[in-house]
Amino acid sequence: PAPLEWFPAWGPADGAARASALFAEAFGGAPAGVWAAPGRVNLIGEHTDYAGGLCLPVALPHRTYVALRPRDDGRVRLVSAQEPTPWEGELADVGPGRVDGWAGYVVGVAWALAGHLRADGAPGSGAEAPGPQMPGFDAAVDSCVPFGAGLSSSAALECAVAVALDELTGTGLGGDDEGRALLASLCVRAENEIAGAPTGGLDQASALRCRADHALLVDFGRGGAARHVAAALGDLALLVIDTRAPHRLVDGQYGARRGSCVRAAEILGVPALGVLADLDGVAERLRAAGDPDAEVLVRRVRHVVTENARVRQVAALLEEGRPADVGPVLTAGHASLRDDYEVTCPELDLAADTATAAGALGARMVGGGFGGSVLALVPRPAAKTVATAVAAAFAAAGFAAPAFLVAEPAGAAGRVDDVGTSEGDA
Ligand code: ADP
Ligand code: MG
Repeated sequence: PAPLEWFPAWGPADGAARASALFAEAFGGAPAGVWAAPGRVNLIGEHTDYAGGLCLPVALPHRTYVALRPRDDGRVRLVSAQEPTPWEGELADVGPGRVDGWAGYVVGVAWALAGHLRADGAPGSGAEAPGPQMPGFDAAVDSCVPFGAGLSSSAALECAVAVALDELTGTGLGGDDEGRALLASLCVRAENEIAGAPTGGLDQASALRCRADHALLVDFGRGGAARHVAAALGDLALLVIDTRAPHRLVDGQYGARRGSCVRAAEILGVPALGVLADLDGVAERLRAAGDPDAEVLVRRVRHVVTENARVRQVAALLEEGRPADVGPVLTAGHASLRDDYEVTCPELDLAADTATAAGALGARMVGGGFGGSVLALVPRPAAKTVATAVAAAFAAAGFAAPAFLVAEPAGAAGRVDDVGTSEGDA
């Protein structure tokens, strides 16, 4: 059989050197600095962020590196080692529907931060010094976060740019967890409004607020309030399987799921599904409302409510030092996403089932679904056996060869000198 493919995580010095070299080649000279932000894998709590629920991500050691230098005009020039087409334009021209392609994830952040600075405003007397201003900039991007694998390369890019511009403008939001939560919300605006991709906040919270060796328990029902949960896995490891399944239908489906959550919350008379403590009477009320899709709504709500319970359960198990008991909860989460939320696909189901049969304590799809990755909790020495079994099952099914990484819970976005030490203070 073909050798297994693993995604290595670059060391910070290596990542910074790559981004700086690309910068020098594209723009000449040295950047003002290199900033990096991680991808993430969510232990549990999928499709709950936009429903006002809970999630429990860890940041990956895999990061996107951005070498950046401000300009004294309003121009922006961008290159990426992962994208063949560079981008150049005026910051003043950036707005919803006006930027195509990957550049939207970068200039969208500058646009959102500039909007925040304007709204926050310098005190208006005219006597005071003006507040921070958004300059133009040149930026070069390089990344070892797998692309489009459900591991949030998009938020890694946004958040690396966000901490860079926050520091260079002297805005100072990156210095504490409250500021980082605000930066995360600006990155969500950038992705929603400029890149045109729906996203609920989990990815950006992970990239900006996680702490090494910890998971981040985020409550989107309380404005994204977060708490660090020690993720001491002992002799267990987090094996991530990128199925490489083509993302079929994913755009419309994500929007449809969000829409179902909004409709169900309206019928149930709650601000968001995340506030529902249990399913008592929920199905009856949804059916009584006469919605033609009532049975679908019943399943969607059941996923959100049971998934929130699984997040609480996994956080408690980690805090009690019982990581092995997390396994079956992950498997139950996959079944819920497959049967009630209906966002898996044959590759995701095969990867999760095969991993469990081959010795994983549990496995579930992560990210939006319809492709992307599976997370398996494995005894550390069994990681390779499980990976081999999944690769063999994929070959037998005629699927593309999957790729793998081991997720060691890593730290949040920061200047590369600070990477690994920067963390929220929640
Ligand atoms: P993911 O699950 O990886 O976040 P998305 O579809 O949300 O998948 O985001 C992937 C998109 O983000 C890419 O198509 C590209 O537009 C942008 N992107 C991510 N990383 C980079 C990078 N290193 N350079 C350029 N664009 C990037
Ligand atoms: Mg993304």
